[in-house]
Amino acid sequence: MVDCDVLVIGGGLAGLVAAAEAADRNLKVIVLDQEGEQNLGGQAFWSLGGLFFVDSPEQRRMRIRDTLALARQDWMGSAAFDRAEDHWPRLWAEAYLDFAAGEKRSWLHQQGMRWFPVVGWAERGGALASGHGNSVPRFHVTWGTGPGVLAPFIRRLKDHEANGRVEFRFRHQVDGLTVTNGTVTGATGSILKADPVARGQKSSRDVIGAFDLSAGAVIVASGGIGGNHDLVRRNWPVERLGKPPGFMVAGVPAHVDGRMLAITEAAGGAIINSDRMWHYTEGLRNWDPIWPNHGIRILPGPSSLWFDAEGNRFPAPYLPGFDTLGTLKAIMATGYDYSWFILTKAIIKKEFALSGSEQNPDLTGKDIGLLMKRLGKNPAPPVQAFMDKGADFIVRDRLEDLVAGMNALPDVRPLDAGKIRTQIEARDREIDNRFSKDAQVTAIRGARNYLGDKIMRTAKPHRILDPSAGPLIAVKLNILTRKTLGGLHTDLESRVLDGTGNPVPGLWAAGEAAGFGGGGVHGYNALEGTFLGGCIFSGRNAGRSVGR
Ligand SMILES: Cc1cc2nc3c(=O)[nH]c(=O)nc-3n(C[C@H](O)[C@H](O)[C@H](O)COP(=O)(O)OP(=O)(O)OC[C@H]3O[C@@H](n4cnc5c(N)ncnc54)[C@H](O)[C@@H]3O)c2cc1C
Repeated sequence: MVDCDVLVIGGGLAGLVAAAEAADRNLKVIVLDQEGEQNLGGQAFWSLGGLFFVDSPEQRRMRIRDTLALARQDWMGSAAFDRAEDHWPRLWAEAYLDFAAGEKRSWLHQQGMRWFPVVGWAERGGALASGHGNSVPRFHVTWGTGPGVLAPFIRRLKDHEANGRVEFRFRHQVDGLTVTNGTVTGATGSILKADPVARGQKSSRDVIGAFDLSAGAVIVASGGIGGNHDLVRRNWPVERLGKPPGFMVAGVPAHVDGRMLAITEAAGGAIINSDRMWHYTEGLRNWDPIWPNHGIRILPGPSSLWFDAEGNRFPAPYLPGFDTLGTLKAIMATGYDYSWFILTKAIIKKEFALSGSEQNPDLTGKDIGLLMKRLGKNPAPPVQAFMDKGADFIVRDRLEDLVAGMNALPDVRPLDAGKIRTQIEARDREIDNRFSKDAQVTAIRGARNYLGDKIMRTAKPHRILDPSAGPLIAVKLNILTRKTLGGLHTDLESRVLDGTGNPVPGLWAAGEAAGFGGGGVHGYNALEGTFLGGCIFSGRNAGRSVGR
């Protein structure tokens, strides 16, 4: 007699979707999580809730013409699949594109989810048509942000909990998978002491007991490695991105520890593409941290001037919001692990959004009054708080004073104010005529052709040194760890494959632990809004497959 039909390891988005789908099929499900109940939903709770849809009503209303063919061109150009083990990731990419252009939105809409009407244009690429990036805006922010993405699945699971089909066991940390005659038949682990820390804070690992649970099927949905910087450095693709940064901020809570990946490998599952990762270059040290070394990512509009640690402007396509990994490589090639934005108050007011549900109380709280204030004269309150209290921000009226403030920050290479002024004045000269050879100025004008950017995300072109647009602002940007693009190798049913490419009986995986499907549905680069969607799609496939 087994303890349950399905044991789900991880109560993040992928685990919740898998559990809900399995319970809908009358299976008895136990969901284990090493954290307490207050943490239900994992990383997705903190997310902005951005989702990648193709040819959605929101896009059509904003006069964005998107097609599956265009999305496919963008995805494949970004993924650049080039390895033998990309067979399943490539099939996952095709299936996910069909989902994103087909059933995804209506399925989620039916469950009560809604989206902000202005579609965001993330990760624009900025090189050639067949290369990386979104040709059109596709980033749909969920009304209610991350908590709004989780809500329908938590609701479904609470109903199943009431009818006895689902049981949650919190503070249950899996330490091993049980393998019986080659089949995964359950999990063993430690029961951790209850810890009243708030959601997202690091909890204790004090052990008060042990557990041993048997199951007909085990689904690993334990997330990625972004909270474990040793593991990130060990897997860092030195030949592609240069040496790993000496200093990084953590864009994910400490529970994103990657421990479960090695445990699954020990039970026979194969991990592929572990050198593929998605880390951001616009990380801020949070002045009000929740988890250790907590970093917040700026989602930048296109106008901030981006300088390396020696004060040289980055060339195109390394423009704000264009090419995350290309810029990361360019930064690391300088020999430093940080870079600088220089901008104006007029730019920050319109172009700085901060990633994270707690940084967007208007969208998270579905507060239209507060949201309208984004169109006002001042930066949104969370951005203003960083300007006032953030360790990485300098605000001054004069450029020479700004650079002096930048040079006074600890551990920076001193910059020459004259060199910075020369580059800014050259750029400002290009703003004053309607032609330009400056790729960033052209990009700003291109962005403003899109109504959504013109209204919400791209400041009216102006001279950086125009005092009426000031004060001037400098931001020191750190590398921020976030997503794991590789992971457990899975087929389209989310069954985990072994080193020979055959399914390990009894074992499934979903979400970030499975590289969002297949062991790396994104290939080398992501188009954004594809992580939550990847958790939903792979979790759904896993939950449906175990019921077959
Ligand atoms: C601030 C922020 C903003 C983001 N914004 C977006 C966005 O706008 N759009 C987008 O697409 N993506 C976004 N993401 C990424 C996305 O939220 C994550 O990739 C996704 O939520 C991962 O879900 P998951 O279920 O795979 O893993 P997780 O959420 O990490 O959940 C895994 C769970 O497994 C548990 N666990 C791990 N190991 C064990 C073990 N050994 N035993 C028991 N339990 C274990 C963990 O405690 C955790 O609760 C964002 C992420 C963050 C942090």
